[in-house]
Amino acid sequence: MLKICVVGLSGRMGHVIFECCQGMEGCKIVSGVAKNDTPLPLGFNGEVVEDVNKLSAVPDIFIDFSRPDCSLSILDYAKEHGSRVILGTTGFDEDGKSKIVSTARSVPIVFAANFSVGVNVMLALIKKTAAIMQDADLEIVEAHHRYKVDAPSGTALAMGEVAASARGVALKDVMVAGRKGITGERQYGTIGINSIRGGDVVGEHEAMFLSDGERVTIGHTATSRATFARGALRAAEWLSQKKPGLYSMNEVLGLDKL
Ligand code: NAD
Repeated sequence: MLKICVVGLSGRMGHVIFECCQGMEGCKIVSGVAKNDTPLPLGFNGEVVEDVNKLSAVPDIFIDFSRPDCSLSILDYAKEHGSRVILGTTGFDEDGKSKIVSTARSVPIVFAANFSVGVNVMLALIKKTAAIMQDADLEIVEAHHRYKVDAPSGTALAMGEVAASARGVALKDVMVAGRKGITGERQYGTIGINSIRGGDVVGEHEAMFLSDGERVTIGHTATSRATFARGALRAAEWLSQKKPGLYSMNEVLGLDKL
């Protein structure tokens, strides 16, 4: 039985992960890390702490959908106590990303900006299209609910990153996040990302490859957070057999072998 601690248990994702795990064989949510901000999922009767170091028992694996500062403390704990980590939190800065990479030398980690199967299929299609349509202008548009705190979304950045790497450049060198004022003409080779926030949108992403006379659009719409939760639980089972390393959802789903 895989003993799971959900980091961000009181959050939107925490609630859905708890619901999806109910009735699953082979894993159990035994504890949670959360601030005392919003109610915990109904029916949860395990231990909940705000500081991971206060946990009374070491979990086999953390499923983390919280905030970067909290996730970094989970990485320290996992390294010290030998737990594995499913990392779904977005919005890490460069130092945070470096810490994830260095921690993965001794801790098995799956890190994904988006745990849904469909988004990972979309990323694979964007990678191929960006390589074939090298000269097309790429614009990415994403929409999320009014409570999301980071922009662009981790998924939009992942879309930009796979496209940039397929074109042999780094996203940070070509990204234009939002436009305002006298911007001048569009620069060749740039990748535009625009963010919409409002209502209860679970997550919408679209990549537009625009060239003269035609446009290819590749998009994904999430209609329920359960798609992320099921993906994270699937990744947790997969990771339970793996050695230390930084894994992606591509590897969990076997898309890297296609
Ligand atoms: P939320 O605001 O509803 O929940 C955040 C949770 O983290 C809460 O339980 C809160 O108590 C806890 N938390 C925050 N800071 C903490 C701290 N310092 N110490 C202890 N607990 C702390 O957020 P959400 O909508 O559930 O999203 C959480 C994260 O997951 C975001 O970064 C979001 O972008 C990301 N997300 C990723 C995916 C994916 O597939 N990778 C999907 C959806 C959301």
